[in-house]
Order: sequence, then structure tokens, then C-alpha cells
Amino acid sequence: MERAGEPTYRVRAFRGAAATVGGLPHDELVRLARNGGLGDLKGIGKVTALAVTEALNGDVPTYLRRLEDTADVDLDEATSALRAALRGDLHSHSDWSDGGSPIEEMAAAARALGHEYLALTDHSPRLTVANGLSADRLRAQLDVVEELNAGFAAEGGAFRILTGIEVDINADGSLDQEPGLLERLDVVVASVHSQLKMGAGDMTRRMVTAIANPHVDVLGHCTGRIVQAGGKRGGLRPESAFDAEIVFEACRRFGVAVEINSRPDRLDPPKRLLRLAYEMGCSFSIDSDAHAPGQLDWQRFGCARAVQCGIGADRVVNTRPWDERHASRDAPG
Ligand SMILES: [Zn+2]
Ligand SMILES: [Zn+2]
Repeated sequence: MERAGEPTYRVRAFRGAAATVGGLPHDELVRLARNGGLGDLKGIGKVTALAVTEALNGDVPTYLRRLEDTADVDLDEATSALRAALRGDLHSHSDWSDGGSPIEEMAAAARALGHEYLALTDHSPRLTVANGLSADRLRAQLDVVEELNAGFAAEGGAFRILTGIEVDINADGSLDQEPGLLERLDVVVASVHSQLKMGAGDMTRRMVTAIANPHVDVLGHCTGRIVQAGGKRGGLRPESAFDAEIVFEACRRFGVAVEINSRPDRLDPPKRLLRLAYEMGCSFSIDSDAHAPGQLDWQRFGCARAVQCGIGADRVVNTRPWDERHASRDAPG
């Protein structure tokens, strides 16, 4: 449902029903399903009760079957090759900010996709509508991630969670988090989330100031446009105005990846800007910006757009193993 972009409340209904069902003994469930009592349980409605009954009978629930029939639109060869070349994702959110799921669940879904790394980039303090993390909460999150990574390492797998942040670019181009804390993070995605309508001159200065900040790795959804109505944001939103040549030249010069944001409601930057950034020699990061586990799969949309703009795997930073990427950025000169 998440991959299909269904509203969060519907996903929640199924998660809630799963939690209720998971707490009951099997025999009790079978009895309730027989006498039509499932609907009386907390969090179980008509649709979820039917899915539970079908599952108890050993069938794939009709609801799931319908989703699966329509979910996997076939990708063309070049797009699947680029998607297969991705080793990780540099932009995702957990329920610590405005995501819907715990860090563990996001990590489990990323591993299931075959990723070697997932950057956890919850929002910064000023984005209060998204429950942005204060410096103290971010420090606490770093401890949690360290513990989870120790668990992954003990299992012997290659997967790890990269520490990170999606930090707000303030109106003056400064970043909305303590520099010392940004320094400690594996991945800093910098994004504009406020005053998106400022004049092009000021917006260009603002973005370039952030790009020149040595802590920044990725420029998130650079135009801020919203192309799909509905969801939590409500309406559509036009692109912010800025001098794209100056902004992309700064990205190239300072080694900041231009994000190809894969969310169906963003698809940012638009293709004319993607082509420009490519011609100017920029690197890219194809990110899901997932706010739920199933949305991690949205990278395929970004891959399709990259292919349409002639961008190959060699220009995409998250086709490289994390250590290699990190080492190259920190190399002197
Ligand atoms: Zn954002
Ligand atoms: Zn985000």
C-alpha cells in the first residue's frame, strides 16, 4: 500500500489490525472468524476482518492480491540496471520526526531491498510541523543507531544505518543544527522547507551558502515543487526561483550531490534542470525520501528520470559502497 502511495490512514488501519490479531491465540481467532466476531475487536473493520478471514482459510487476501497485481509496473532495461546498481539510499525518515515507522522497520525494509546502507535523515529543529529533532534528540538517536549497527555487525551482514539529518537551509543560508553535531554525521542532506517564494537572487545566495558549507553532502529536492495534489501537503506548489547554473556550479565545485528526489508528489528537480546539472558535471544521489518502509521502493521513479536525462551510474554517488564514497570526499585536495 505504501509503494502504491495509498493514504497513511489506510496503511495504519492494517497495521493496527495486525497488532490486534498478533496478540490473540490462533484458536480464538478461528472461533471469532467463524461466528463473525472479528469486527468487534479493537481496530478491526469490515475490510481488515475479511483479509484476516481469508488468511485464516489459507488464501491470499483479495485486498493484497489486487495490490500485488497493480503494484509492479515493469521497468525498462536501463532503469532496472540503474536501480540494481544502487547500493543504498541517502534520504529517509523515521517516526522520530514525521515518518510513520520506527528506525528498525525502516532498516529491515532497506535490507530486504538489498541495500548496503540507509541514511536516516530526520528533520532539524525548526521544522516543528515535522517534529524536527533538537540537538539533544539527535544525539539520543545517534546512540540508538549505534546500537542497531552493532547488532547488524554481530550478524555478520554488510548492512548499516548511516547517521544523518535533513537539515533546513535557513533564510540566510545557514543550517538549522549545531555545526559540531553535523560534523559527526555520516550524511547531511540540506533542503529548503520555508520561505520558498523568496526572490531568485536571495534564494540563489541562500542555496549557494548552504552548498558551500563543508558539512553538506546532498542538496535535497532543490526546487521544492509539489506535483501531485493530496497527501499531507494538500495542494500543488510551484518551483522556487533561483539561478540554476550558479547553484549547480556550486554543487559541482563543492562536491555536493544534486538529489533526484523520487517521491511521486515531488519528482524534483524537473527534467530540464536534471539535464542542466548533468551537462554541468554534477553528481547525483537518487533518494526515496521515504516516510514509510514501503516507500523505500520509490527509488525506481528517480532511476527512470535519471535514465531519461542520460545520467548513468557513474554519476550517481549511491551506486558506490559507502566507505569508498566517504573516503573520496575526505581525501585531501
Ligand atoms: Zn524535505
Ligand atoms: Zn525528507
